[in-house]
Amino acid sequence: MDNKAAFMTGINKLELREVPVPEITPEEVLIRVEYVGICGSDMHYMEYGRIGDYVVEDDFVLGHECAGEVVSVGAKAKGLQVGDKVCYEPNLTCGECEYCRSGDYNLCPDVQYLSTPPVQGCFARYMAFPASLCFKLPENVSTKEGALVEPFSVGLEAAKAGGVKPGSRVLILGAGCIGLMSLLAAKTYGAADVTVVDIYPKRLEKALEIGATHVINATDEDPIAVYAKLTGSEGADVVIEAAGAVETTQQTVFLVKRGGTIILVGMPPEDEYIFNFAKLMGQVAQIKTIFRFKNTYPMAIRAIADGSADIAKVVTNEFALSDITEAFNVNINKKAEVGKIVIRID
Ligand SMILES: [Zn+2]
Ligand SMILES: [Zn+2]
Repeated sequence: MDNKAAFMTGINKLELREVPVPEITPEEVLIRVEYVGICGSDMHYMEYGRIGDYVVEDDFVLGHECAGEVVSVGAKAKGLQVGDKVCYEPNLTCGECEYCRSGDYNLCPDVQYLSTPPVQGCFARYMAFPASLCFKLPENVSTKEGALVEPFSVGLEAAKAGGVKPGSRVLILGAGCIGLMSLLAAKTYGAADVTVVDIYPKRLEKALEIGATHVINATDEDPIAVYAKLTGSEGADVVIEAAGAVETTQQTVFLVKRGGTIILVGMPPEDEYIFNFAKLMGQVAQIKTIFRFKNTYPMAIRAIADGSADIAKVVTNEFALSDITEAFNVNINKKAEVGKIVIRID
């Protein structure tokens, strides 16, 4: 067994290196990683070397959306066998604080999340993971789909926070990976009408392909006027901001229904900007934010397995680990062309 990992050695620089196969503790399993998704956060670290206070300092392995096959099992690792296909939930928490004990473990102050410095990520052939954070995939769910359970979980968290239920009308700003995952999540929760707004036609085509009821291209049309027409000026029960731009965040309050909910998922580059709170209060709407997700993996896997979330269609490009540099370049330079990229570790 030899192991390889892709190290980020500087801004827009990646290098494949031989590394030792990790030793497992009794509670861990060794995974032969098969697929890893490139997340928006991986791209951000690659382009800027940091996200807020998290700074990439030494050579660093990115990647946290992964799935693979169990190749060895620690003596105290429960519930898994060699040969099982699993996906990994990268929320390694303390298990003892107020948040962990109450089930809001995503808020644990000591959470260690893969590919968030200094915790090394999983663009590697072999990884050791605690068995308790590995979720077995059913026969009909591939490891490529398994690698998408992490971003799908962000969508499920957004839909859950918004209280999406059967019959809900949902509007999503942004049709990048998280916007599309929010679309699948809203459908999973039973939304009847999901409209998606973006500026790239390819992304809007993808949104229609995976179940959007309407799409609005904000380059040609004013989403507020178009949505008012679509809904008879009622607005959306739930507006999910997944573009991470100031303008779209400002638009949310003009798209939400009276008494509705706005969920902020994307984070604009500016910390402070104008927002119409009078309009928000007039609409008696509420704004909520989310941080990653909690307790979503079992539901995500079942929704993929029973076909209600056709998650494989979100992937637009697949690259081998040996071509990971090209994968990142394509992702950074061809935003209008590509959507979700996954890396095949062979
Ligand atoms: Zn991610
Ligand atoms: Zn904790």
